[in-house]
Amino acid sequence: MKRREEMSFLERIYIVEICRGLTVTCWKLIRNFSLHMLHLIGLKREQPAMASILYPNERRPYAARYRGRHRLTLDEHGNIKCTSCFLCATACPARCIYIEAAEHDDPEIEKFPDRYEIDTLLCIYCGYCVEACPVDAIRMDTGIHPEVYPPDPRLFIEDKETLMRRSRVLEDLGKDALFDLHMARMQQIEKHPDDPDVPDEDRVPL
Ligand code: SF4
Ligand code: SF4
Repeated sequence: MKRREEMSFLERIYIVEICRGLTVTCWKLIRNFSLHMLHLIGLKREQPAMASILYPNERRPYAARYRGRHRLTLDEHGNIKCTSCFLCATACPARCIYIEAAEHDDPEIEKFPDRYEIDTLLCIYCGYCVEACPVDAIRMDTGIHPEVYPPDPRLFIEDKETLMRRSRVLEDLGKDALFDLHMARMQQIEKHPDDPDVPDEDRVPL
């Protein structure tokens, strides 16, 4: 890019540049105001009236490699794939994965995680656990965000059932359904952060 050292005469008197700036501002103001009015009566809805995104009702598509919340993947019978090898917990720099291995009734399966928990308050979403897993048992492809303010800090800890349920929803209903459930849960928490009338079991699980 060529760097211009000196301003031209017209730039130095500023009047022309001020007029140019005001023209752009006024044009954007009139255009966006008109579009807002048209949207109110149901016209030109496909043409956005502002540059900002009205999240969460509108959202841009995430990159394919976006690292969202974790899930534990399932085999073709719906069983957990994890073999309790502890490689993810060993690779985790935040030390936020807790696993309790147990022997399986099936002699074909050496062991499985009786307990598998991720403390998402500590997690830094680095993805090392996913990289370390030799059997593709943990993924971060859910496309949903970390929870920001659950009513109880203990709810930041995601257990095995939660992580498996995410895989079921994703496989059965798809990513959009998973995101809709995530948003429903966020809105529920926002509306009733400490409401005792909304027991934990009635909250949208995710
Ligand atoms: S994303 Fe990183 S910090 Fe979070 S559980 Fe996996 S390895 Fe640990
Ligand atoms: S998720 Fe993968 S790396 Fe972690 S314990 Fe299970 S099998 Fe091992």
